[in-house]
Amino acid sequence: MSRTMLMVNGQVVEQGALMYFAQSPYAQLRPVFQAIGGTVVWQNAEAQAVVTWLSNLLIVPATGRHITLNGQQWTFAEAHRTVEGRLWVSLDDLARAFLGSLRTEGEVLHLYLPVGLLTGISIARESLVLHWSGQVKAAPLEGTAPSARSLQGSSWVMPLRRLIIEQAPEGHLIVKLEAEGRELDFNAGEQGLRVSWPGPLQKLRGVIIALDAGHGGKQPGAVGTTGVLEKALARQVVDLLSVPLRAAGAEVVDIRQGDEHVSLNDRVNRSRMSRADIFVSVHYNAHERRTANGTETFHAAGNVLGARLAALVQEELLGALQLRDRGVKVAAFHVLRGQPSIAAVLAEIGFLTNPEEEEFLIRPATLQKTAEALYRAIVRYFS
Ligand SMILES: [Zn+2]
Repeated sequence: MSRTMLMVNGQVVEQGALMYFAQSPYAQLRPVFQAIGGTVVWQNAEAQAVVTWLSNLLIVPATGRHITLNGQQWTFAEAHRTVEGRLWVSLDDLARAFLGSLRTEGEVLHLYLPVGLLTGISIARESLVLHWSGQVKAAPLEGTAPSARSLQGSSWVMPLRRLIIEQAPEGHLIVKLEAEGRELDFNAGEQGLRVSWPGPLQKLRGVIIALDAGHGGKQPGAVGTTGVLEKALARQVVDLLSVPLRAAGAEVVDIRQGDEHVSLNDRVNRSRMSRADIFVSVHYNAHERRTANGTETFHAAGNVLGARLAALVQEELLGALQLRDRGVKVAAFHVLRGQPSIAAVLAEIGFLTNPEEEEFLIRPATLQKTAEALYRAIVRYFS
């Protein structure tokens, strides 16, 4: 028997507080929690020890294999032991109950008990709120992490942006938050605890978005070399785009219903009546020269909001589709000029009169990518 020393969260536990029963390490309850600032009270009538440590409440009966931690009952693999009036518990089980860890280093046995436990998550419009018991000491490594000090207390509000917090090597706290994802990884100790987002992020809650599928009805718009119609492709992209927008909490206004014909005036009126915050018109291009190609996005002259959204739309479309950059341009299109006070843009995704580009544009995967690019641009505009 060479291992003689027990440390809890880096604190030395007094000599003789560690013992092995059938090869399993046991610790005496009182010195373990006293070493880390806890209080242990023995209740004679109930024959149980009550441990308070930070805001954790642990109850360990003298016999059996059960404990109660913060109101939740756990069953230990190894039974508690009482030796000479002292209560001993299995260290492996204790680590597991606290989502901590136990490891050996030379002659020292290290028990790590996380100092903060996640007790709940809620999502406000722009913030994720983590509710903790205990204290969390965290070293921010990336993103806009709050300082370690601000993590103390019972709740923690953080902006919904990419954030990774990790704590020093010893299997400590790791919080990972991805704004684009819906999952929060919360690892406490080496056991790990995975917590999922309660629902999709409502990044666009309260936002009204007018989507304008170009042309329609008797106006087919551009006609591709394969006979594909611009109005049909625009319809598909708008339909695909509505899905993530609605999932993100936006109110989507479909300016053109199905394949109906809508005049340019009515498009502007419908957008205005809906009090839309932004207006995105989806088109495909045509040119008598079959080699004409590329992506371009328009906004009205002097519309600063439109210029900003157009730049994002153009950037995302280029990134997703890798077509030639024809640039962000100013145009006096009626649907843009008629809405000078909101971000109104018109995207010409690519050329249907260019056989090579057309073949690429009409693929289902490309239509999906197109919608996703527009979605990202809209999310970026509002973030
Ligand atoms: Zn068009």
